[in-house]
Formats: sequence, C-alpha cells, structure tokens
Amino acid sequence: MVSRVVLFRAVIMGPPGSGKGTVSDRIRKSFELKHLSSGDTLRANIIAKTDIGLLLKSSIDQGQLIPDDIMTRLILLELRNLEQNSWLLDGYPRTVRQAEALDGTYNIDTVINLNVPFQTIKDRLTSRWLHLPSGRVYNTDFNPPKIPGLDDVTGEPLIQRNDDTPETVTRRLHAYKTQTEPVLEYYRSKGVLETFSGTETNKMWPHVHTFLSGKLGSGDHKAAGKV
Ligand code: AMP
Repeated sequence: MVSRVVLFRAVIMGPPGSGKGTVSDRIRKSFELKHLSSGDTLRANIIAKTDIGLLLKSSIDQGQLIPDDIMTRLILLELRNLEQNSWLLDGYPRTVRQAEALDGTYNIDTVINLNVPFQTIKDRLTSRWLHLPSGRVYNTDFNPPKIPGLDDVTGEPLIQRNDDTPETVTRRLHAYKTQTEPVLEYYRSKGVLETFSGTETNKMWPHVHTFLSGKLGSGDHKAAGKV
C-alpha cells in the first residue's frame, strides 16, 4: 500500500502585535513546520544591507506596506526553498492582491486568524522586545526573557523595533484595517479561515494547538523534514 503524503500549507494572520510571532514559534516547535515571516525576511535584508533592504528600510520604519509585486516576488522566491516542506506563512499575504498571487502557486489549507482588540495591541507593542537574528519575540508583560534584555537561547541583546513607536503603530493598525482585513474575508469565503479571539496569547495558544492537532494528527500531512 502506498501512503499518501500531503504537505500542509498554512497562513497565520492578525494585526501587528497580535502574537503571530510567538504563536508561530510554538506551532513551528510543536508541529515541525517551517516558518516563514515576511517581516523577518525584510529585516534580514536590512541587516545584510542588500539592495532590497536598503530600498525598503525607510518604508518599513514608517510602518508603510511594501508594494505587492516586490513582496510577492520576495516571498515566492523564499517559498521555493521550502517546496518539500510543510510551512506556516506569517505576515504575508497582507492585501487581497497578495492573497490572489499566493493562490496562483499554492493551495492554502488553513488560515489561523488571531483576533486581538486594537487597544490591547497598542498597550502591548511598547513592551515588545525582539532578538533580531532569530526573530524570537518577547514581551516584558507576559512572555519575558529569563534575563531582562537578553535572548534566552543565545544570550545576545534584545532590541525594540523602530516601527513600534506609538505613531507608527497607529499607522500600521490603519494599514491593517484598510488593506489586510479584506484578506480575512477572502479566506472566509474560501472556507479556510479559523479565528481565535482573546487578549492573552497564552490563553489563545491551547485552542490553536488543539485545532492544529486535529488537522495534522490525521497522519496524512507531512511534517517538515529536519534540515
Ligand atoms: P511585520 O514584522 O510582519 O509587522 O512586518 C514589518 C513591516 O514589513 C510592515 O510594517 C511592512 O512595512 C513590511 N511588510 C511585511 N510583510 C509585508 C507584506 N506582506 N506586504 C507589505 N509590506 C509588508
């Protein structure tokens, strides 16, 4: 008997600061999916001072969305390296045009939507700290590093993002409302949207875990190979 192996293609959505980074990291560890974050990919390009990183830095610092065609080219290129793996995409798509472009190449099985009130997010983003090389996210309120200011795994210093200032957060939330919320509708109409509502990541996570266990526990999805 030949067993059927299906690669799992998931997207995680939610406003900036909704806990996507933290939940993605837990999903990656629990289910051995590859995790691709568009924001991390852009920040890595900025650090490496690539042409694209230098070109896009000021837009990102100001909380503006990157044009669809640039973003789509970048992400589809990254996804080509993950063809043989199940993956979780985080931060892309952020517009309906991006979602359509993604659909042109991949069949999305599930979209996890973290629905967190905007006021909670505004309070939260100012206490967010990041380990830039790995993309690990901490929050001094509910997910603090073991040693303040230092990454748990490497011991390297954590930073606050340039785009986590109050004015930029307001601009990013506005971009989310006008450009990204329609993507939720797009996926809802396709029947793949699963929404998790709450104000605390630690309370939302068990529901996400149970949901994905149901999806991936059937054994016909292939977890990411360890590379
Ligand atoms: P994030 O870390 O996902 O909050 O992304 C940080 C910034 O990168 C965003 O505020 C945008 O400027 C840019 N960015 C990330 N993903 C996208 C995307 N899919 N489309 C457009 N801009 C993006």
